[in-house]
Amino acid sequence: MPGKNISNSAPLSRDEVTLREELRADVEKLAGEIGERNMWHYPQLNAAADFIENSFSGAGLRPRRDTYEIRGQSCHNIEAEIKGASPEIILIGAHYDSVFGSPGANDNGSGVAAMLAQARRIAGHLGKHTLRFVAFVNEEPPYFLSDEMGSSIYASRCKARGDKIPVMISLETIGYFSDAPNSQTYPSPGLGIFYPKVGNFIGFVGNMHSGVLLRRAVALFRKHAKIPSEGAALPSFIPGVSWSDQRSFWRHGYPGIMVTDTAPFRYPYYHSANDTPDKLDYDRFTLVVTGMQKVIEDLDKL
Ligand SMILES: [Zn+2]
Repeated sequence: MPGKNISNSAPLSRDEVTLREELRADVEKLAGEIGERNMWHYPQLNAAADFIENSFSGAGLRPRRDTYEIRGQSCHNIEAEIKGASPEIILIGAHYDSVFGSPGANDNGSGVAAMLAQARRIAGHLGKHTLRFVAFVNEEPPYFLSDEMGSSIYASRCKARGDKIPVMISLETIGYFSDAPNSQTYPSPGLGIFYPKVGNFIGFVGNMHSGVLLRRAVALFRKHAKIPSEGAALPSFIPGVSWSDQRSFWRHGYPGIMVTDTAPFRYPYYHSANDTPDKLDYDRFTLVVTGMQKVIEDLDKL
């Protein structure tokens, strides 16, 4: 049901309406105006990097480019850090490239828009932890799961520097919801017995090693959020569990979770030319972002 916003929850507050329009504008900028952005559409990839960098600067932060090269072409992860009382880092990441042939509105304009919205709202806040927002390049194939993946380079550099990262959160495709029967599928048939068959919730996924973080994040989300959520700590060999930047952090022993609408297991336009801004459910997308904002604030206090 493209473009249809069905929500059983209470109407949005005034702040949430402001946030919703901010999210819509940023998804429109990335997937509508800039469009497909990857190594085959290199000027667009760089336009997206510039947009993210300018958005961080506009929020009063000082972005830094974490650069590496692939066959002579520079690729940039973009980070913005807010120092806290402790050097321990809560890292919120989202990849900003789109898969070949797709403008990537939901995958992953939604994750980037959410990360920017959170950075803008948290910019002035001196918390207990250091907060770091990172936009990752080259998450999609052929870099996916390779050593040239942006987050793979980034996480190795974190490890080499000795960064302490007790919390890594990957925002990956978070804007599509459906109330239709059987709109939700699962990578393994067994999971369908335990989890809902209607795609109206936001998912939290982690590997077994990240189970404590996963359960904590889901409990905090449920305390605050006005949208249903499901969480699962699963062996990373189950398809989908490791399908984003959290995997790069797992490889170095950092706990990481992915927040997702489950992408291929729900979204009919996954990795297609039709992954356009009009497909997102901006009301429910907003409720995910406000809920995650509270999760980050509460994780910071721990
Ligand atoms: Zn993605």
